[in-house]
Amino acid sequence: MKSNSYNPFEVAQKQFDRAAEMLDLDQATQELLRNPIHEHHFLIPVKLDDGSTKIFKGYRIQHNNARGPIKGGLRFHPQETVDSVRALAMWMTWKTAVADLPLGGGKGGVICDPHNLSDDEQERLCRGWVRQAYASIGPKLDIPAPDIMTKAQHMLWMLDEYEVISGVKSPGAFTGKPVGMGGSLGREEATGYGVVITIREALKELDINPADTIASLQGFGRVSQYAFELYIQMGGKVVCVSSWDYNEQKSYSFKKDEGIDLDELRSITDTFGGIDKQKAADLGYDILDGNAWLEQDVDILIPAAIENQITIDNVDGISSRVKILAEGANGPTTPEASEIIEERNIFLIPDFLASAGGVTCSYFEQVQSNMNYYWEKDEVLSKLDVKMTSAYIAVSDFATENGLKLRDAAYVISIDRVANACHDRGWV
Ligand code: NAD
Repeated sequence: MKSNSYNPFEVAQKQFDRAAEMLDLDQATQELLRNPIHEHHFLIPVKLDDGSTKIFKGYRIQHNNARGPIKGGLRFHPQETVDSVRALAMWMTWKTAVADLPLGGGKGGVICDPHNLSDDEQERLCRGWVRQAYASIGPKLDIPAPDIMTKAQHMLWMLDEYEVISGVKSPGAFTGKPVGMGGSLGREEATGYGVVITIREALKELDINPADTIASLQGFGRVSQYAFELYIQMGGKVVCVSSWDYNEQKSYSFKKDEGIDLDELRSITDTFGGIDKQKAADLGYDILDGNAWLEQDVDILIPAAIENQITIDNVDGISSRVKILAEGANGPTTPEASEIIEERNIFLIPDFLASAGGVTCSYFEQVQSNMNYYWEKDEVLSKLDVKMTSAYIAVSDFATENGLKLRDAAYVISIDRVANACHDRGWV
């Protein structure tokens, strides 16, 4: 997303270059993996309710498919740019590889603000996106999923359009669908729960009891709410949560020293994860500025909103008590801030490992949809736990054996897996 000079694709390429050097990758493999293999940019004309037509810009960017079909979310956001979609596509390749899923990575987006679109207009936009992307997506080619401001209903409209065009039922063409309409139980929870599974493993390594810890979270959407849920089930306490105020176009932090009640906060939150400031004040929350979530005297920080949130300008505000920073969002920390966090010996669990639970469960959904046979929730969540725990342990062991931080270790493992797939296929 736009923010002065911040360019997420340059960040993603910088991170890749660092790992490529560690791996001593040959020139051709570097060139192949530094850029998306396919990019689809298109215009989507949509009839609005007032009879006028608005043209939206849409993307599907496919970074790499050497390990399997492309997998990745699809965002609706007014500040989306082609470079943010490129970065997110590349990060998806590393995410599927670090979780050892037989998938590649891609990302899609539409520059739009769904706050300003009726449900009918959003449905027409979803169908329009599928008509433009149709030739390059499909259950064996590229399987989109929800992301920021896209939900299960959007995926169902998209699947329906896909099936209308193809004339064939293909429930595995999209994931994140509503349960009962091809969706998987546990998908809503998967990303947030996955973040907390990695935190649980890191706490074990640090020999800290989760019940002795407190946390602060940025964002209160799908990822954050479920991270909060599993974390308090483990005995932890959340004292601060931030969210975006759509009317004021700025963020606020909501604090309760005695611990926030998850159900209470959910009851004053809209479907976009926006918390009602007035109702929060009535319920006794301290309402602080947008950065306050980062400055709390806590053990664990979970950025779970958007990219470029922890930067050189605010990283020094992190309390000396913080032991773990688990990146629930994609790209929340700039490379410069990340270096400072690691120098301070804060355990930084990188985004494409911490938030791999979503794509892992999307993969489970795709498997179930292709079989048209659906698992019980316990089965999904226990498979998720096995996958996330083994991904975390593989990265952590590799980091210890090679004297690396977790982010570098995760990059080296995933880029090595993708590079080997490209070599084995004879591409490079
Ligand atoms: P969401 O739209 O459900 O929620 C986003 C939340 O962030 C909302 O509460 C919003 O108010 C808040 N927010 C936005 N800008 C903010 C700001 N500047 N300061 C504070 N809060 C802000 O989105 P989500 O699905 O929870 O995704 C969150 C992040 O996790 C994104 O980076 C997304 O790419 C990543 N992610 C999501 C999934 C998934 O399965 N949903 C999977 C992997 C990664």
